[in-house]
Amino acid sequence: MLILPAFLFLPLGLVGLLLYFLPTIVAASRHHSSVIGILLLNFFLGWSVIGWIIALVWALSRPPVVVVAAPGYGPGLSYTAAPPAALLCSRCGTPIAPGASFCGRCGAPV
Ligand SMILES: [Zn+2]
Repeated sequence: MLILPAFLFLPLGLVGLLLYFLPTIVAASRHHSSVIGILLLNFFLGWSVIGWIIALVWALSRPPVVVVAAPGYGPGLSYTAAPPAALLCSRCGTPIAPGASFCGRCGAPV
């Protein structure tokens, strides 16, 4: 029988715990939409090797949720914030310059 020094039990237990919940950790880090289901499968069936493998495959199955950027603001372009939406005149529909209080075309108050 393998005898381990007492000080190794805690780190080995933590590593084992992390390894056991690896599918859940992977799912959470990928913002998987079924992270709760993966957690439950991992928790209740992870002790059986096949349940653990299914949970891990499930965690890796779908692509991570990607925040959809507005058109023209895709990857490679860096914007700190989207430009303010153009204000349209309620009477004629002409875009109104930011800060203006009257429509430039028809003169209606904004
Ligand atoms: Zn107008």
